[in-house]
Amino acid sequence: MLVRHAIDPTREAIAAARAHGVKIGFVPTMGFLHEGHLALVDEARAAGATYVVVSIFVNPKQFGPNEDFTRYPRDEERDAALLDARGVDLLFLPPVDVMYPPGSQTTVSVGAVARPLEGERRPGHFDGVATVVLKLFNIVQPDLAVFGRKDAQQCAVIERMVRDLDVPVRLVFGETVREQDGLAKSSRNSYLSAEERALAPVLHRALRAGEEAVTHGVHDVAGIEHLMRKMAEESKGVEVDYLAVVDPETFLSPADFRRDILLVGAVKIGRTRLIDNIRVTSR
Ligand code: AMP
Repeated sequence: MLVRHAIDPTREAIAAARAHGVKIGFVPTMGFLHEGHLALVDEARAAGATYVVVSIFVNPKQFGPNEDFTRYPRDEERDAALLDARGVDLLFLPPVDVMYPPGSQTTVSVGAVARPLEGERRPGHFDGVATVVLKLFNIVQPDLAVFGRKDAQQCAVIERMVRDLDVPVRLVFGETVREQDGLAKSSRNSYLSAEERALAPVLHRALRAGEEAVTHGVHDVAGIEHLMRKMAEESKGVEVDYLAVVDPETFLSPADFRRDILLVGAVKIGRTRLIDNIRVTSR
């Protein structure tokens, strides 16, 4: 596996690979990798990539001033070993000043889909995400890029950006990889104390209860949201940020239960904020 820190050498390595006729697959991450990230590497190959690029960049622009940017977990050596073992071809590991040199002043701002839920609670977050993802796309120029459905609104924001700005990339979305007890794998799970970790699966349980209601024909948004909240709040030490029933494209209240429905949630346990979702397909 090649490791590159600067933009030009990354472009050169990819251009050399492309000259051999490879199909470039790209998986952007913030590192501290777990099986969820590595499954996206497999997903890239399954979708036809013959040269897989992974980036690790903890993007300061997608963190709010009171969020966890400085304490976000990092272990580049371990990450590199995991990616190498998974057959990744190139790891792009840029420092902040390579991605945002002094004087940079352009951002990408996605509209309505970026506003509710995560967008409302984390002002500027999705502008930061869209900006860094478009920059990474321009550096790597992948044929396909893989994102995890765990960050459902992020998937919708990027899909919207790619369509609106005619970005020549095929998007592939990977299913959420979970721990045995249902907790979605996340780099932020490393913040949880043993007691907090024991509480954490309640988010998934609440979403499952919502899923069960929808599949049994309950179409009352407020009722389902109340049910999910009640279930999550039964665990003392869990603070519900939101538990919502939304349309997976708009992230607003669904107009029609005959289409796919997304159950999304965010909770705080101690200082740790966890998000998760379940999609209920109409078929
Ligand atoms: P992050 O490093 O948290 O920015 O995540 C990088 C990519 O991995 C994003 O596309 C995430 O949606 C995806 N991802 C994170 N956790 C999981 C998971 N448990 N299962 C599948 N994909 C995930």
